Amino acid sequence: MHRISIFDIFKIGVGPSSSHTLGPWKAALAFLKLLPELGEVASVKVHLYGSLSKTGVGHGTDIAVMLGLEGFDPETIDTADIPFYIGRIRAEKQLELGGAAAGAKIGFDPAAAIVFEARARSFHPNGLTFIARLQSGRKIRRTYYSIGGGFIVREGSVSQLTEGPSFPYPIDCADDLLRCARSAGRSIADIVRANELRFYSEEALNAKIDRYLGVFSSVVHKGCTAPETNLPGGLNVRRRARKMATKLLGEPAAADLAAFNRQLSGLPQDFASVTSWVSCFALAVNEENAALGRVITSPTNGAAGVIPAVLFYYRYFCPGASRRQERDFLLVAGEIGSIFKKNATISAAEGGCQAEIGVSSAMAAAALTEVLGGTVEQALMAAEIAMEHHLGMTCDPIGGLVQIPCIERNAMGAMKAITAANLALQSDPDDAVVELDVVIQTMLDTARAMHTDYKETAEGGLALRVSVAVAAC
Ligand code: SF4
Repeated sequence: MHRISIFDIFKIGVGPSSSHTLGPWKAALAFLKLLPELGEVASVKVHLYGSLSKTGVGHGTDIAVMLGLEGFDPETIDTADIPFYIGRIRAEKQLELGGAAAGAKIGFDPAAAIVFEARARSFHPNGLTFIARLQSGRKIRRTYYSIGGGFIVREGSVSQLTEGPSFPYPIDCADDLLRCARSAGRSIADIVRANELRFYSEEALNAKIDRYLGVFSSVVHKGCTAPETNLPGGLNVRRRARKMATKLLGEPAAADLAAFNRQLSGLPQDFASVTSWVSCFALAVNEENAALGRVITSPTNGAAGVIPAVLFYYRYFCPGASRRQERDFLLVAGEIGSIFKKNATISAAEGGCQAEIGVSSAMAAAALTEVLGGTVEQALMAAEIAMEHHLGMTCDPIGGLVQIPCIERNAMGAMKAITAANLALQSDPDDAVVELDVVIQTMLDTARAMHTDYKETAEGGLALRVSVAVAAC
């Protein structure tokens, strides 16, 4: 099960949720491909089960399946146009199946065609079933599960984790990674790079990583320059990143990305400035995510701010930061995410927020440790420390919206990652009592023992104490 590329962990997509937005979107696209002739389709119905039903409206699941059925690609769609497309579908009660070019318009009233069913299917809390009725009367039905981080599996199929080329360094757990690195005398990034070269040429890999680094930059910039409006959904959460960036800079963040980057290059290095900026970066990304903007799933959308916040901490506050090391940062973070994915979960519906913010913090901690010159052992130690202090963290988003506690939680996850990296860099890993694989197993044990109210159902914690009438996004 070792064939996960870092680009399975990092995916360019649309907010607010990887499991509830990106996964269902991809499931709709997969279902489209199954349909023999789009013009033959008379109607389509979608059933959302379990967590997808309970927090689906707040997470934009209904929007995601509609956009998927219209053939839009979450990586390339212009997010500014989403309200228009959804408004058209709702007003006309029609769907352009497979996109306008396919010429297959069908009647589709979202209120009737998208059915929210609170009961969960047995395989995973995030299930969804598509049913297409053809003109001939024949029905095509498929069930998919959105298993976290934008990964989907079709009911009855083999997990996609077993597909793909074999790697020179097969890694299923942290111990495998440590053994490979030790025996090859190479860093984690070098090991992961060697595996990724099974998918890409060196040049293509660097270009792809650079593209992702560019998207991180543009998301942070967008979040720091977006108007201070309320986020959608009815909770009246005000965007703060722009105001915060303006205050910290002493002037508004530049509208031009290159000028904004120049502003960030000369920041004061005192503790208050550093920690405020880390929070600002995280808020900027997750406010974009909550506004259905473009983010990179890392390893989920709800936790999309941790990696860029720590990456930007490295870029702007750590002497000697380089583009080459930023690439290494992503390689290491992606590998740690895939180890969690293989051995536990990155789905809050299965494991609570420890599986999202906890995992992203562990990814960032290991990555930061390596690019700051830590050993392989110290990088793994940093990931262990970061997860250890997220164990048991529940998922209780108010109104099922990925806003409270989610947005601030990214700032906390980023700071914990930085603290974990610094602790590991100052420690001798031989003295560590808990290994990364042990804490991953503990995270899974905790996930299994956690009450379902705290696993992305909006039926416990803050979601229970603070009520809100959720408005369609
Ligand atoms: S509480 Fe955590 S896991 Fe749940 S939606 Fe928010 S960020 Fe994701």
